[in-house]
Amino acid sequence: MKKKIHFYQSINTKIVFIIVMLLVFALQIIGANFVTTMEQKLVGNFRGDRQTQMTFLKSTILPLLESDQSEEETETNPREEINRLLMEFSGSNITELQVVSPSMVIMGISDSTQQSMIGQLSNDADVRQAQLSGTSVTKQDLDPTSQDRRWKIVEPVYSSTDSEEFLGVIVLESNIETVYTQVSEITMTFLQASSVAIILSLILANLVARALTKPIKEMQIQTRAIAEGDYSGMLTVYGDDELGELAFLINELSDEVAEAQESIDSERRRLDSVLTHMTDGVIATDRRGKIVIVNNMAEKMLEVSGEEVNGNNLLKILGVEKELTLRRLLEEQEDILINAYSEGLPTILRASFSLIQRETGFISGIVCVLHDVTEQEKIEEERKQFVSNVSHELRTPLTSMRSYIEALADGAWQDPELAPRFLEVTQSETDRMIRMIQDLLHLSRIDSGKSDLEVELVDLTELLDHVLNRFDMLIHSTEYEGKHYRIDRNLLEEPVFVEMDTDRMIQVLDNIMNNALKYSPDGGVITGSMRQTAQSVIISITDQGMGIPKNDLVKIFSRFYRVDRARSRAMGGSGLGLAISKEVVEQHGGRIWAESAEGKGTTFYLSLPYIPFEEDEWA
Ligand code: ADP
Repeated sequence: MKKKIHFYQSINTKIVFIIVMLLVFALQIIGANFVTTMEQKLVGNFRGDRQTQMTFLKSTILPLLESDQSEEETETNPREEINRLLMEFSGSNITELQVVSPSMVIMGISDSTQQSMIGQLSNDADVRQAQLSGTSVTKQDLDPTSQDRRWKIVEPVYSSTDSEEFLGVIVLESNIETVYTQVSEITMTFLQASSVAIILSLILANLVARALTKPIKEMQIQTRAIAEGDYSGMLTVYGDDELGELAFLINELSDEVAEAQESIDSERRRLDSVLTHMTDGVIATDRRGKIVIVNNMAEKMLEVSGEEVNGNNLLKILGVEKELTLRRLLEEQEDILINAYSEGLPTILRASFSLIQRETGFISGIVCVLHDVTEQEKIEEERKQFVSNVSHELRTPLTSMRSYIEALADGAWQDPELAPRFLEVTQSETDRMIRMIQDLLHLSRIDSGKSDLEVELVDLTELLDHVLNRFDMLIHSTEYEGKHYRIDRNLLEEPVFVEMDTDRMIQVLDNIMNNALKYSPDGGVITGSMRQTAQSVIISITDQGMGIPKNDLVKIFSRFYRVDRARSRAMGGSGLGLAISKEVVEQHGGRIWAESAEGKGTTFYLSLPYIPFEEDEWA
């Protein structure tokens, strides 16, 4: 995701800011020190100069004051002399000079406009203080008229011979403002120079920062491109410094990520194609059981679409949320059977589960593999049914035989009337069991593919006629005395040669004919017909018997299936005849089926593949 970097957040700004701030601080410290030192120096110099002037003045005025005190007659008046000296004393910055006598009378003043003050009493507090303390007074204050700063020295003068003798006070006032003006001018110059330095450093810092951040910016763009899956770009390595090495490493990283991505992609493609072409359904979930991958087969098996189930709960999609919980699934991954519908047909799926586990044991998901076991389950069901049927079929005749044998053993063998009848029953039951076991063996041979056909080219018209003739004889035998059967023929005129195993085919036709008689208890007409189509010859045998309910029409070809168990068994049927017939016909590449109207009669059809010969071929 692209995140906007604000101006103030960028390294560029930070570098520039830091450099400029450092410079400003440095200038600030240097400037402050410099200005204070310079000010102290200049002010000190100024004051020192004034002190020198004062000392000079004092030494000049001292003899005049001494002579004024001695009251000796001199040619000149010392006071006038003092005043003249003051007025003539030239010194830069000196604004005023005064000499005050010990009695506080102003003896001389430098300012020519203030001459009237001479002879008057001084009211200067500093003069008084100097007089009283005997020491000089120095101070800086504001000139009351010009508001300039002034430096004032008030110096008491003592006699050179007697240091106790106080002669007067000299006052020196000077204008120190010029010194401060000078200081502020220098400060101003310094500030200007600093500003220029700051601006220059701003430009320079910007250039430096840019030089530093340019490769970083490029790296930023490149890493973003890598994150977005574009590995094509390469960074320029600008030098051997840390940034250069970083750029080099990013280039290497890009190569490696590209390679890793490539292998992940190809792995995924391989996985996808494996999943797509698998004949088993595969569903993968996250650790909460939410579906994340469904392959095509699973979609087909469960009749769902990927988009629709993604994110859904696995157990819900499998329809087993009532029987199975996620917790149990995580604890033990036992297989379960699921009833589903695929392409509208009910199917049975076996779902096997396994966990996706990390090395640490953390479970990150579940994989469910769906296998269509409809056919297996059907076969298994049939096998169970078959075993149960065989046991049942054998138990019934054996039970009845045992009871007859018991009766015989109990003494019936001596009964000349019962004994032969009982023995006859046991014999017929034994026969029936033998027949059944032979039928079963026959079926088992067909099932295991061991029953090969011994095919020959046979005229089907003749074969059918032969079978019908045999049954004609049978119905007119004593066995069927009192029953009215008739056999009609509706055969083809010409011979129809079909490749077949004659014995087996006779067995099939016998079975159908037997059933026709068996299930027509009131007699009736049995018609054997033949017809020919482009690819097959169809034999049909129609009776006028009890018929078969519609629902049972397909089932009668299953092993042991009988519409009316009791009646069929009573008639010696085992329920295997039609099953064997079906297998034999199918071995011949043909088909067998039945049509029936209950209470009216049944027709069995038997179609065999047949390609009619052209007359010319025989010629
Ligand atoms: P079975 O030995 O019991 O006759 P089959 O396999 O020959 O066994 O026949 C299966 C069942 O089909 C019979 O039990 C019977 O109920 C029914 N069936 C067969 N043929 C006919 C028919 N022609 N008319 C009525 N029902 C028939």
